[in-house]
Amino acid sequence: MDLSYWEYKTWFSNIDFTIIGSGIVGLNCALELQRKHPNAKIVILEKGLLPQGASTKNAGFACFGSISEIREDLNQHSEEEVLKLVQKRWDGIQLLRKNIGDKALEYQRLGGHELFRNADKALYENCLERLDDINKLLLPVFNEPAFQQHPNQFGFKKIEQNYITNPFEAQINTGSMMQSLLQLVQASGVTIFNSMSLEEFSETSDGVVVRTADIEFHTKKLLIATNGFASKILKEEVQPARAQVLITKPIKDLKIKGTFHLDKGYYYFRNIDDRILFGGGRNLDFKTEETSEMGITSLIQTKLETLLKETILPDISFEIEHRWSGIMGMGTKKRPIVKHLSNHVACGVRLGGMGIAIGSLVGKELADIT
Ligand SMILES: Cc1cc2nc3c(=O)[nH]c(=O)nc-3n(C[C@H](O)[C@H](O)[C@H](O)COP(=O)(O)OP(=O)(O)OC[C@H]3O[C@@H](n4cnc5c(N)ncnc54)[C@H](O)[C@@H]3O)c2cc1C
Repeated sequence: MDLSYWEYKTWFSNIDFTIIGSGIVGLNCALELQRKHPNAKIVILEKGLLPQGASTKNAGFACFGSISEIREDLNQHSEEEVLKLVQKRWDGIQLLRKNIGDKALEYQRLGGHELFRNADKALYENCLERLDDINKLLLPVFNEPAFQQHPNQFGFKKIEQNYITNPFEAQINTGSMMQSLLQLVQASGVTIFNSMSLEEFSETSDGVVVRTADIEFHTKKLLIATNGFASKILKEEVQPARAQVLITKPIKDLKIKGTFHLDKGYYYFRNIDDRILFGGGRNLDFKTEETSEMGITSLIQTKLETLLKETILPDISFEIEHRWSGIMGMGTKKRPIVKHLSNHVACGVRLGGMGIAIGSLVGKELADIT
């Protein structure tokens, strides 16, 4: 594309910071950079018309890990590491609330419940056995027991008698969160170029040359926040992981309220606008879902509908209104990767399934190391 003198001078010259990706991480990184360097010229490149990864696609759980996830984490990490992970999620949610405000987030602390299918009785009993120890471990974060037993008040079927509930878990409106973040970033003077994808970059002595399909420009620093798409441009250990979701039409007199985890977190559902939003099922076909291409499959969508009919809404008639997918970035470790890749390039990627909790902090950390 031939840029005019005006276009080049106004938008693509003397750029201090270029961020790739306008998800939670990229936007929080931009806000923090703007705070630290009020006179800097900061731009964001986003390949989609809207953010097109996970941040506008997710389920809106402000969560810290269900009891079975924490039990699983304790098998792979030390107690100290698990405590740090949960503390980071808690701190991250507080930062998100501070930056955006509970009203704009539509933050509601309705509690989060883990349900155990009858087929998972052994897991349920083991979680109950470990409940006191896990509560003790997490006391420095919550100051109160994080997990407690809760009767099956919403009439779910084919599950064990009690849920294991975390009263600190909350839900947000994902669309409002991202709209508020985008407005904050734009109001701070940062320019977002949508439908512009980074194809490659090369380091120079004083910065980086950024190449897209249409144009090429120079930036002093390049910050990559492309999460599930990171392996397309970086050699970091981040696997794309697609997550599929559906939402019902409004259901009259829907009583279910809160965020719910099922099958060790592989399924999750919540109420929103008198509907049930329900996602998960990657574990049915990990190989196909290890992709950065959006899409839905009948295998997973059929399973979601069956679970809705048999377990979640067994005596209630419902219709599905809409289905979609998003792309997460996973790895063998739960820790995100926030680091310098060279003198002028850094990345903040691999948010796993907890980006709402840790996205604001990871964005801030990325700005802080730059
Ligand atoms: C269905 C689903 C449900 C989820 N539910 C929850 C939940 O309830 N709670 C929770 O905490 N987390 C949840 N997550 C995870 C959470 O959404 C993510 O961890 C978080 O949004 C990651 O934010 P990010 O900014 O790192 O990445 P993203 O939001 O994926 O942002 C990366 C951006 O980079 C852009 N991009 C990629 N490549 C390029 C390129 N070459 N050039 C320019 N732009 C590029 C993408 O278009 C994208 O907008 C869920 C995820 C999904 C998919």
